[in-house]
Amino acid sequence: MNIVHESELAAGAGVWLIFSQGQLLLESGTTNLPKKHWHELPFLHHYRSDVRLLKPLVQQSSLPPCYVVDMGLETPRAQGWEEVSLRTAISTADSEQFETIARAWQYVHFLRTHRFCGKCGAATTQVDWEMAVQCHQCQHRCYPRISPCIIVAIVRGNTILLAKGVRHQSTNMYSTLAGFVESGESLEQAVHREVFEEVGIRVENLRYFSSQPWPFPHSLMMGFIADYKSGELRLEENEILDADWFEFGDLPNTPPKVSIAGQLIDAVINRQ
Ligand SMILES: [Zn+2]
Repeated sequence: MNIVHESELAAGAGVWLIFSQGQLLLESGTTNLPKKHWHELPFLHHYRSDVRLLKPLVQQSSLPPCYVVDMGLETPRAQGWEEVSLRTAISTADSEQFETIARAWQYVHFLRTHRFCGKCGAATTQVDWEMAVQCHQCQHRCYPRISPCIIVAIVRGNTILLAKGVRHQSTNMYSTLAGFVESGESLEQAVHREVFEEVGIRVENLRYFSSQPWPFPHSLMMGFIADYKSGELRLEENEILDADWFEFGDLPNTPPKVSIAGQLIDAVINRQ
């Protein structure tokens, strides 16, 4: 994210990503990111020197500029605006808006949690030409943390394995298995370990599917499809409340297709 000069802000409307605590500010009653001129946002004017430009992805170069403001702990008092949780904001977003919110939030989270050097404790400053913070006392430089996770759809004949995790108790949602990659482990090894730990079975024929950044707070989900090989379901009770083989035509409540979990499930059941 780059620092924004006054002339750039005056040049035209931009898309605004305004964060307050762990929430995103949207115009009341809307789900789209606001597209505004700077002069339409008077409640932000004392954050003028904190406006950052989110560098567009290569395939997004035709979009208007995306500006990011982090209000930190301040609760905005802006009529006609409301704070929305990030999970709510991305659950209603299309894929482009999902990506934009996810990237902006990961940068904001990075800057909030790297204000001091982890090596010597001095205050850091943001590097203006790349996404990093620099300590000028010991020269240590930090980049945004990215935590690799595997996510896997397991197929057995005309059924798919779906599990209800402890976090989904209230929504009754069943999803594919997922977990963090451990230090020193390959993605494939992580799939085999995670599946065996969580549901006690063995899988084979791993096929890479696709990847998706997941901003809670900085995961990179790497999706696989795998075939069941052997074993009976044995659930890791601290993480999994329920898991079962579901017929493709008779699925429980599953994640939305904006998430890679939803895309994996969709790919498996439509492939047959
Ligand atoms: Zn330092």
